[in-house]
Amino acid sequence: MRAVRIHAHGGPEVLQVDEIPEPAPGPGDLLVRLRATSVNHRDIWIRRGHPHPAYYVDLPAVLGIDVCGDVVEVGAEVDGFRPGDRVTANPYMQCGRCTYCLRGRFQLCPRFSVYHGTYAELFLVPSSFAVRVDASVPDEHVAAFPNAYITAWQMLVGKAGVGPSDTVFVWAGTSGLGSAAIQIAKLSGARVIASAGSEEKREVLRRGLADEVLDHHSADLVARVHELTDDEGATIVFEHVGQATWERSLELAAHGGTIVSAGATSGDDARMNITYMFVKQLRILGSRLGTMTDALAAARHLSAGHFAPLIGAVLPLEQLGEAHTLMDEGRVTGKVIVKPIA
Ligand SMILES: [Zn+2]
Repeated sequence: MRAVRIHAHGGPEVLQVDEIPEPAPGPGDLLVRLRATSVNHRDIWIRRGHPHPAYYVDLPAVLGIDVCGDVVEVGAEVDGFRPGDRVTANPYMQCGRCTYCLRGRFQLCPRFSVYHGTYAELFLVPSSFAVRVDASVPDEHVAAFPNAYITAWQMLVGKAGVGPSDTVFVWAGTSGLGSAAIQIAKLSGARVIASAGSEEKREVLRRGLADEVLDHHSADLVARVHELTDDEGATIVFEHVGQATWERSLELAAHGGTIVSAGATSGDDARMNITYMFVKQLRILGSRLGTMTDALAAARHLSAGHFAPLIGAVLPLEQLGEAHTLMDEGRVTGKVIVKPIA
């Protein structure tokens, strides 16, 4: 079978189509045939050789986090899945043995690993992290779901406790994580103010996604949020940008508001006015991916057709380098989907 592997770190050119043996499922595994996957920032950081240990993988490696595929074979101890099932999977895999896991606090497992391996025609998925998805949901939607929606679900539902009385501010609303956040916040009944950096992207957000749409390059963004909220600010700020937005996140948050963060795509070195933070009595919450509780809850809404991920481009697996470049350069509005080689 064919898989796209990296043998060394580097640019998109290190993504190389290889012929490799079909994997054999272990007792708890599903063997899954790829229908679609997508590109995430994590894939790009690993490909480049990000120095943080969280991005370490043994080489050669098949990257790719997001699962949309059909089960073709199940391991001897698998219960609840059969060949022919269409599945996705939660990429967050807790260790199951540490003191946090033993107390059922799976979200806090310090020894978790992140699933990868979908840039291939066939791959293994541990059945304990797999979730069935209704056949009515397009492959592209399933492929855009796991990393973005499960992460956003944990941030907004699991951490911030979003509800109908909230005003949620979402940075970069057309990104995978941003658009997932908007849809989950709307599902909860909250009002959503979202930002985007180009008129084209703002137009996409105005088409039934966010209630209010702002330009995050505009100098008056914080003032506009206060205008739109009777000078209160946003009760929840959905952060995943970091350095470029962090100070303004504090300024546009309401008193007693929550800033929930799961990323720093613009960099880690943010400045912060601490007085501003404690006078406003803000809660700042860090978040990573999400548990099976989040995955199952979010997947129920995916299967019911409540989520319509933004799809920016669909490319064949053999053009994965081009898919990475599109994502990396922000040239598309929405997720970059990758499908098997025809
Ligand atoms: Zn653990």
